[in-house]
Amino acid sequence: MQKRALVTGASRGIGAATARALAAEGWEVNINYFQSETQAAALGKELNTRIFRADVADPEQVQAMFHAMGPVELLVNNAGIAWGGLITDMTSAEWNRLFAVNVGGIFHCVRCALPHMIHIKHGIIINTTSVLMKAGGSCEAAYTATKGAVEGLTKSLARELGPSGIRVNAIAPGCIETDMLASFTREELNATAESAALGRNGYPEDVASVTAMLASDACRFVTGAIIPADGGLIL
Ligand code: NAP
Repeated sequence: MQKRALVTGASRGIGAATARALAAEGWEVNINYFQSETQAAALGKELNTRIFRADVADPEQVQAMFHAMGPVELLVNNAGIAWGGLITDMTSAEWNRLFAVNVGGIFHCVRCALPHMIHIKHGIIINTTSVLMKAGGSCEAAYTATKGAVEGLTKSLARELGPSGIRVNAIAPGCIETDMLASFTREELNATAESAALGRNGYPEDVASVTAMLASDACRFVTGAIIPADGGLIL
C-alpha cells in the first residue's frame, strides 16, 4: 500500500510538526501552505518533499493542488484560522472567512481526495477540531462553531465512507503554544497550563504524535472518533 499524505497548513505550528511526525513513520508527505512560503520551502527541503501553495478556502486552488500533486491515501485537514472577540464586533466577512477556511477547506480537500480513496477502498482522513468544543469559550463563539461543524462532518463522513474502507477521525488539541495563540498574554497561557491535569500547555509535537498514531494501522478499527490531545485541560 502506498503511503502518500497531504497535510494542509503545514508551513507552521501543529501542521509542520505533523508533517515531520508522519515522515518519520515512512509517509511521503506533501506540504500545503498559503502565506508562509519561506517556512514551507524550508520544511520541504528538510523532509525532501514537495510543497503546494493553495488557499484551502478556494475550491479552484485546492483542485489545482490535487491535480499537480496526485492522489493521497492520508489527508490531514489541519489548516485553520482563529478569530477572537465579542460576537457583536465580528463582521459578516470575518464570519464567512472563518467558515470558508476551517470548514470549507475540509470540504474542498475531502472532495478532491475521495475518488482515489474510494477506488482503492482505503483511506484515512484526520480533521482538526478543538478542545473548545467540549466547553465553549467566551470570545471564541464563531471559532468554536466552526469546530462544531468539523466534528459533525467527521462523524457523518465516518458513517458515509466506512463502507468504502475509509476511516475519518478528528484530533482535538488543547492549548498548544503556536502562532495561533500570539494574542494571549503569558499570564493567560500560564493560567491555562495550571488548569490542565498535566500542568502545562502543549507543544505542536504533542498533537502530531497522536495524529501519526491515528494514521497508523494500530488505529485500523478507530473511526468517527474525536481524540483529545489536551493534557487533560477539559475532563
Ligand atoms: P498556526 O500556528 O496559526 O498555523 C496555521 C497553519 O494553517 C499555517 O501553516 C497556515 O499556513 C495554515 N493556513 C491558514 N489559513 C490557510 C488557508 N486559507 N489555506 C491553507 N493553509 C492555511 O495554527 P496551529 O496552532 O498550528 O493550528 C493548527 C490547527 O489546530 C488549526 O485547525 C487550529 O484551529 C487547530 N487548533 C489549534 C489549537 C492551539 O492551541 N494552537 C487548539 C485547538 C485547535 P500559512 O502560514 O502558510 O498561511
